[in-house]
Amino acid sequence: MLSGDGLVVRVRPFRGELNRAQVLGLCDLAERFGNGLIELTSRANLQLRGIAQEDHLALLAALEGLGLLDLDPSFEARRNMLVAPDRSPGDLTDRLCTGLLEALPRLPNLPEKMGYVIDTGARAWLGEAIGDFRLELAENGALLLRADGVALGRPVSEAGAIPAIIELADWFVGTGGRDNGRMARHVAKAMLPEMWQRAAPRAQGWPEPGIDPELGAVLGVPFGALEPEALRGLVAQSGASALRPLPGRMLRILCPQPEAALHPGFVSAPGAPEMRASACPGAPFCPAASVETRSLARTLARRASADTDAGGSLHVSGCAKGCAHPRRADLTLVGRDGRFDLVRGGAPWDPPSLTGLDPSHIPDAIRSA
Ligand code: SF4
Repeated sequence: MLSGDGLVVRVRPFRGELNRAQVLGLCDLAERFGNGLIELTSRANLQLRGIAQEDHLALLAALEGLGLLDLDPSFEARRNMLVAPDRSPGDLTDRLCTGLLEALPRLPNLPEKMGYVIDTGARAWLGEAIGDFRLELAENGALLLRADGVALGRPVSEAGAIPAIIELADWFVGTGGRDNGRMARHVAKAMLPEMWQRAAPRAQGWPEPGIDPELGAVLGVPFGALEPEALRGLVAQSGASALRPLPGRMLRILCPQPEAALHPGFVSAPGAPEMRASACPGAPFCPAASVETRSLARTLARRASADTDAGGSLHVSGCAKGCAHPRRADLTLVGRDGRFDLVRGGAPWDPPSLTGLDPSHIPDAIRSA
């Protein structure tokens, strides 16, 4: 993808995992070809930014050498899947993942952003992760396929799960879903037949940074900005064999001793204020930005946490494009000509309530606005 700072190259880990060699290889590639950071997206993908057009093919060859490229680029675009982070070889999640990967070419053409969630592990981990087709479990362990945007799903057998996804995708396309773009928007307008709404999934959950009894070490990555030096240090310190990117800008570290993965460059306890904030790379990383973003986001998030107005979403964007969080936030600061505009309850491109703020005046402006 072309962005304001050159090409953005997205890496979708196969089955949601990167082995140690792939992690270390990506660190090298980010420094050699990119802006020196690896971005962890809210959809658990990785991105290298700031790639020059003339380096594109060399980077693709290096990614292929690491085993990170699909044979067919169109397949990568369809492989928009989130899988339960406790997947292990041969378990239900893994088998469903295999079935879905094999079925992707048979699915109808869907809007690019549509994706799949396979949340069939020991707990429901992916409740807050956006995904249009959701394989989940009911409280009694029965397998369900649920369309995003409706509360109930359709009970399916393991053998019937993938055919049911194809059937639901055919219903989506056949009832004009492409015009609505996503499943949740479509079911709000089209009548989803009752057979797809028969059973409730188990209580939804979400991993938190720290040591999880089932997942081991889970680390938060503020703003999704992975610094190669910190990542190399984490891998060396923990002896990690693999990493699993999680939605919400977190990583599960697969390593012998989870405590050894608690690295100071990462968030390792729940409730860290910067995990609630979004900020793009900003200046000097992106030429479209005239302001630094992440230091301000960190300061404001910590201040909000100390104040009583903790809990609201915060987005600091280098410009009105809003790459880090292209949607509404409680508070959005948008860089413009070295200063910031303030948007309350809107997206970066919405009309601001205050303009031309100096970064040092922003905390007071937020309080008094
Ligand atoms: S939002 Fe940030 S990363 Fe995106 S183009 Fe603007 S300054 Fe660059």
